Amino acid sequence: MTGTTDLADVTEDAVFAAFPAVLIDRDNVEHYRGLLARKLLINRCSACGYWVYPHRPLCPECWSWDVVPTEVSGEGSVFLCTLIHQERDPNAALSEPVPAAAVELVEQPGLRYLAPIVNCPLEAIRLDMPVRLTWVDRDGLAWPAFEPADPVESGR
Ligand SMILES: [Zn+2]
Repeated sequence: MTGTTDLADVTEDAVFAAFPAVLIDRDNVEHYRGLLARKLLINRCSACGYWVYPHRPLCPECWSWDVVPTEVSGEGSVFLCTLIHQERDPNAALSEPVPAAAVELVEQPGLRYLAPIVNCPLEAIRLDMPVRLTWVDRDGLAWPAFEPADPVESGR
């Protein structure tokens, strides 16, 4: 998928069809609808402003049910990062490791989103490194990823 799609144009059927391996429910369907429109939506409490993630229908701060999918700024910092070595073909050589990070979003302390770090040499990834949202294409879908917000030096 290239370009942006208007959220209103993404039907629920399209969400189910795009993510067959994901258990889509009423709490996360808007998040996945957002991904199809290249928008990172996280539920936010309308009563107190608390960001509710993982996706839940009830605000854990004030117990309001008025939780609304809301687009985040995409700015954050690396809270933790691990290198994942994954190859589905057991006969293939191991591919380059994928740096998977928990990115703490600027919207709220403790609001962390799991996504790969891209456009950055592995050895340049640092904890607390400022990052920003970008999108990577995988299997025909756009997925959230984060890249350094500032230029990085490889250190090699
Ligand atoms: Zn609340």
